[in-house]
Amino acid sequence: MIDYQSILNSIYNKVIQDKDKGQIATYIPELANVDKNSFGIHLQLISGETFSVGDSEKKFSIQSISKVLSLAFAMSKVGTDIWNRLDVEPSGNPFNHMSLLELEKGIPRNPFINSGAIVIADILVSLLDNPKEDFLTYVRDLTGDASIDYNYKVANSEKQTGFTNYAAANLLKSFDNLNNDVVDVLDFYFHQCSLEMSCEQLTKAFYVFANKGNCLFEKTRLTKSQAKRINAIMLTCGFYDEAGEFAFEVGLPGKSGVGGGIVALLPNKFIISVWSPGLNERGNSKLGMQALELFTTQTNQSIF
Ligand code: GLN
Repeated sequence: MIDYQSILNSIYNKVIQDKDKGQIATYIPELANVDKNSFGIHLQLISGETFSVGDSEKKFSIQSISKVLSLAFAMSKVGTDIWNRLDVEPSGNPFNHMSLLELEKGIPRNPFINSGAIVIADILVSLLDNPKEDFLTYVRDLTGDASIDYNYKVANSEKQTGFTNYAAANLLKSFDNLNNDVVDVLDFYFHQCSLEMSCEQLTKAFYVFANKGNCLFEKTRLTKSQAKRINAIMLTCGFYDEAGEFAFEVGLPGKSGVGGGIVALLPNKFIISVWSPGLNERGNSKLGMQALELFTTQTNQSIF
């Protein structure tokens, strides 16, 4: 039997000693107001046990991690038609890269680069009666936690400065791959990115992907096949131009966000979330990557 608690404790004690904690994202001005020394981990086994260390209950901006939840919501509503508007190839590019420009048809390379997540946002805006409220309800139900909410200051802050996302949305529109108004789609997108969750809440929300589409409360949210496919996209596209490095070092499907969170999972075994707001030069949590590398090495568990 693996002693998960002492492994988490020793990883925590080792990783927080690193003096170079990376850089906090400041291109969304409101994200700069966070304590760089924050660091938390939460682990949940599929069998039910949970283990935590550090700031595992402190909420942070989940940013791009929300793209997995919006994709899951859209897939559960639309099914395979979604892939007429999006591809599933790793981009090898930063999250905000205008890689659409390279593709003549206006099809984003995958749902986790910004242009892809904006297409998913467009799909949800078309389908939902009250897109922001309905998406929030979806995330709260998945997690079993009604306290989860958007951070309106962060959403508005990104609205003021998200010029690259406006450019991407306009480009999609010019290719006829955006059905709604650019401003409405981005309003939804900036809110989904502004969701605040703790490591513990994220771990619960991602249980559905590790448990063949059944959420923590044993309700079927996705088909087995949809859960499998979302895990595949996390593995190949979850870390932008660092997806290869994450597979190499950690060996799990996962997703990062510029708020410094990372969620990763081993299907049928566990879900683990880490938060440390300092990012490496590729925009992924510096200490979070280190902690997850230590975790899969020390427990000898990865999909490989
Ligand atoms: N809201 C952020 C953006 O669109 C999300 C980026 C991220 O977390 N990688 O720029």
